[in-house]
Amino acid sequence: MVTAAPAKTQYEAVIGLETHVQLKTNTKIFCNCATTFGGTPNTQVCPVCMGMPGVLPVLNQKVLEYAVKAGLALNCEIAPYSKFDRKQYFYPDLPKDYQISQYDLPIAQHGWLEIELVNKETGEATRKRIGITRLHMEEDAGKLVHGGSDRLAGSTYSLVDFNRTGVPLAEIVSEPDMRSGQEAAEYAQELRRILRYLGVSDGNMQEGSLRCDVNISVRPVGQKEFGTKVEIKNMNSFNAIQRAIEYEIERQIEAISAGERIIQETRLWEENSQRTVSMRSKEGSSDYRYFPEPDLGPIEVSQEQLAAWKAELPELPYQKRQRYESELGLSAYDARVLTDDRAMAEYFEATVAAGAPAKLAANWLMGDISAYLNSNSDVSINTLPLKPSDLAELTNLIESGTISNKIAKDILPELLEQGGSPKAIVEAKGLIQISDTSVIEAAIAEVLAAHPKELEQYRNGKTKMLGFFVGQVMKKTGGRADPKLTNQLLAQKLNE
Ligand SMILES: [Zn+2]
Repeated sequence: MVTAAPAKTQYEAVIGLETHVQLKTNTKIFCNCATTFGGTPNTQVCPVCMGMPGVLPVLNQKVLEYAVKAGLALNCEIAPYSKFDRKQYFYPDLPKDYQISQYDLPIAQHGWLEIELVNKETGEATRKRIGITRLHMEEDAGKLVHGGSDRLAGSTYSLVDFNRTGVPLAEIVSEPDMRSGQEAAEYAQELRRILRYLGVSDGNMQEGSLRCDVNISVRPVGQKEFGTKVEIKNMNSFNAIQRAIEYEIERQIEAISAGERIIQETRLWEENSQRTVSMRSKEGSSDYRYFPEPDLGPIEVSQEQLAAWKAELPELPYQKRQRYESELGLSAYDARVLTDDRAMAEYFEATVAAGAPAKLAANWLMGDISAYLNSNSDVSINTLPLKPSDLAELTNLIESGTISNKIAKDILPELLEQGGSPKAIVEAKGLIQISDTSVIEAAIAEVLAAHPKELEQYRNGKTKMLGFFVGQVMKKTGGRADPKLTNQLLAQKLNE
């Protein structure tokens, strides 16, 4: 795609996201059918979620709890009184011919979420608040499988699986506050992080537990009115969200620059060709003829209940990031990596609480320990034999100079696989660092006596031979000589 460079900077993108999140309850929103993913089609169904006449839905209280907790974590106002509505439309995956959703009185509104963009080169973090317009509860529809085409149109036959019908969803709508693909991808990731911290959703994009639709328009910089917006669907990774938006920004700017009109439409992201393609035009808004769901009573959340749920909220990722920087002195980058997953963050905090120097513990966790976890999928941070107190002991042995970093790395595989006290291992194997000057000096004397040729080279100006001598001393002491002290003593001796 070719776009004249000067034209691009004269436009800005306006981006908002609508996210559907599956709430992690064991049963559906209005019946007792299981929500387990991947079951044999049409085995997790009952008269309620199949839309049989005469049945009555009953709200799963866990769904309300999870929606309210998500709303609180997104800094929303929780409605003391809200209700369900029927959104009426026909589609073969919707057995009732209407979806139970929330219309004018959503459970949560007017919140915000903070995104943080870290510049990889400078390590500087930029923070930005993205408004949350609303969060409401609704039921999911079923799943259609088409034969002969990937869409209903053009297929020779279609099959329907109602296992998903009635699975609880929270729809979260953002304000159009984002200006780039990177901001939108970060918003979606932060949203998932928050929901996972709360334990209200697994946020698994591959299984459809987190689906993002993007609304995007471009306008000349300085213009107040929005341009015509296009909706993009079908992105199943954060990376795809970012690239779809970047593609769409270019496409729209190029079209406007060429004097074309942007059509209000829904476009699909094509992963293979890395572009968006038109799916259907969307002139005007559909009239779903919402009306209050007569089979469900109003939803009332008492102040006591609200306070109780609020008290159960964990410390959230952005709060942890700020605390790690201000209290523990970590960089924005380190704080971000450690807080991405709640279990990792809690392991790190337990290690620091057991007395570990924060930066050193962070380095070990983000480096060797993460690498080990990544290559051993059957072990998680929660089941790791190396406990936080063991890691604290290890970092303290390094910090105090009892063992070198190299010795710590040597014993790490054993610790990761079997756990145990690093101090006991070090003592049993005789790996304690040698910091006794006389012992190191004796080793240096032996090394210098054994390498007169190299000594002469050094004294003739080849000072980089220092590394050779350090290596020889290390070899002689089984890697246990204090490297700093060895360097210092060697330099003295060589320059005598
Ligand atoms: Zn059911």
